[in-house]
Amino acid sequence: MAVKVALITGGSRGIGAATAKRLAKDGYNIVINYRANRLAAEQITRQIENIGRQAIAIQADISNEDDVQRLFQSIDEHFGRLDVLINNAGILFTQSPVVELTAERINRVLATNVTGSFLCCIEAIKRMSTRQGHRGGNIVNVSSAASRLGAPNEYVDYAASKGAMDTLTIGLALEVAEEGIRVNSVRPGLIYTEMHADGGEPNRVDRLKNNLPLKRGGTPEEVAAAISFFVSEESAYSTGAFIEVSGGR
Ligand code: NAP
Repeated sequence: MAVKVALITGGSRGIGAATAKRLAKDGYNIVINYRANRLAAEQITRQIENIGRQAIAIQADISNEDDVQRLFQSIDEHFGRLDVLINNAGILFTQSPVVELTAERINRVLATNVTGSFLCCIEAIKRMSTRQGHRGGNIVNVSSAASRLGAPNEYVDYAASKGAMDTLTIGLALEVAEEGIRVNSVRPGLIYTEMHADGGEPNRVDRLKNNLPLKRGGTPEEVAAAISFFVSEESAYSTGAFIEVSGGR
């Protein structure tokens, strides 16, 4: 039987890289999308090949419609099928209160986290829908506990973008349920990745971890495990559902 194919946006680092490796171990061939860091992306593709699966790395800025179309056309040409989309690529900027935000910054966050996720869903549905003669598939959106908590004085713009992603998960799950596509979401909390440096505080997880019921930060692999569950048939009766991977808060 042909090997299924999974696309992980932002699959070159952090949670995306851990998810790529986990899904390779689960038996998928992997498409790593990245924006800028080619070396990191190629390193992950080599690790996946060592696991015994095929992998390609494709540069594309998911906030750019032309880039997204090129990304999916490359998948068509290379693998000829798509079974799983993990909408993982996401950005945030330096911690600051709402009163200091600018339209330029807010729009950049929304363009990647919200518009980019929509654009990838659109292209994925065209390649998964049983109504369009395809095999069905799974979409998992990587949201954030910030969508529930609001990220005050840090990045409410980012938190709001994740709230929009949550609504995308709910609405799209209902739209495509009868087309063989399930849409679910994971909401990570404080996870050890390089993203916190983008917020201006590389050690943010260690500063805040003791506020959590479980008193520790999470690993990218723990998020990948929840994503793997949603992709698998173990979760076949779940769509429009959320798993918190956030240490109890
Ligand atoms: P990360 O370590 O900063 O990695 C981000 C990844 O996204 C990189 O592969 C990056 O590629 C890629 N990327 C960024 N903008 C992109 C764009 N416009 N187009 C394509 N790729 C893009 O992030 P992370 O911490 O693993 O976060 C992954 C997801 O989990 C995000 O959606 C984030 O919001 C969510 N999350 C993270 C945490 C946490 O504590 N870390 C908590 C909750 C939710 P390049 O390296 O090439 O730029």
